This record gives sequence, structure tokens and C-alpha cells, in this order.
Amino acid sequence: MVETPHRIYLAESPVRGCPALFLDRDGTLIEDPGYIADPDEVRPIPGVAAALGRFRAAGYALVVVTNQSGIGRGLYSWADYDAVAARIETLFAADGVVFDTVLACGHSPETDPPCSWRKPAPGMIREAAGLLSLDLSRSLLAGDKLSDLEAAAAAGLPRAVHVASGQGAAVRAALAGWRAAIPLDLVDDLSALSP
Ligand SMILES: [Mg+2]
Ligand SMILES: [Zn+2]
Repeated sequence: MVETPHRIYLAESPVRGCPALFLDRDGTLIEDPGYIADPDEVRPIPGVAAALGRFRAAGYALVVVTNQSGIGRGLYSWADYDAVAARIETLFAADGVVFDTVLACGHSPETDPPCSWRKPAPGMIREAAGLLSLDLSRSLLAGDKLSDLEAAAAAGLPRAVHVASGQGAAVRAALAGWRAAIPLDLVDDLSALSP
């Protein structure tokens, strides 16, 4: 891989020293048509911005942790990613939501050894915790895939939220057989979530 495999966006004035709501991006914040590389494909899931506002008001940092294996697979570039990320930032900012930090891993799952940032590994959660001095003991993570929940468990978070948006509906059926290492809340999508 020629390009740096990771991206960190940091807000101008991120909150620090508080708990965080860690957020998967595709299928959790926005619809997931698969390998989004075009800003015009960005569709925020209705009601999600309002839910994020409730967490912000309750004193949570908002931290996005996203696997972007399409980069490692050569399907799109970091320039494409940046354009999509900028659209997401703009659309959520219009609803009063500012993300404190956004971390992305561009590695493919075939990377050997596996990247410590790529979910189900907890690297992005830990990196963000170090950046913002987050209180992981009061934090939670929301995502649609098993790898999101596994990353939350690996990071030692006390709680995770499974959303049925994105690929979550298909994953939901498999959750019963997953020996959860972390207490789970099940919601239809993030709009249903409150602190
Ligand atoms: Mg997802
Ligand atoms: Zn990586």
C-alpha cells in the first residue's frame, strides 16, 4: 500500500475527559450501499442526528470509528474518503452535531498480521481514548456488525448497542448464537437510542 493506511480527523475544540459514544459509520450513521466513495451517496439515517444531540447534551464525546477496507482493496482512494467524510460532517453539522474525532482504518481484512486498528480489534477506540482522555468505563459503542460489538468488548467497554440498520438486520439473527462478551442493547436504529 502506498498511501498511509489510517486517517484521524480531530475537531477544532473536541471535548475531553468525558465518556464517549463510539459510532460505526456505514450502516449506523448513514445508509450502507456498500463501499461509499461518492459524497452524493451519503444518506444520513433519519433521527440519528437528534439521538447524537441527546448524547452530546448528556456529556458524551462523539467518536466515529470506521473500517474502510475499500481503500486497502483499491476500490477508492483517501481523496474519495475525504470527500465522503466532508459531506457527512456538513450534513450532521446542519443538525447541530459535531463529531469530536473520526478515525478510519484503510486496511483490508487480508492484511497479515491483522491491523490493530481494524475492528474487531480495539485500536481505534484506544487511540481516540488517548487523544481525548476519554473515560472508557462509562462509554459505549453502537454498530451494525459483529466486528463492531467485538471491538467494543475488546476495548473493555461496559456496554454496546446493536442497530438493525445497515447490515444489522442480517446480523441480528446471528446474535443469539454469539456468546456476547459485553452487555448489549438492541435497537432498530440509532434514532431510538438515548443516554
Ligand atoms: Mg457498519
Ligand atoms: Zn489499519
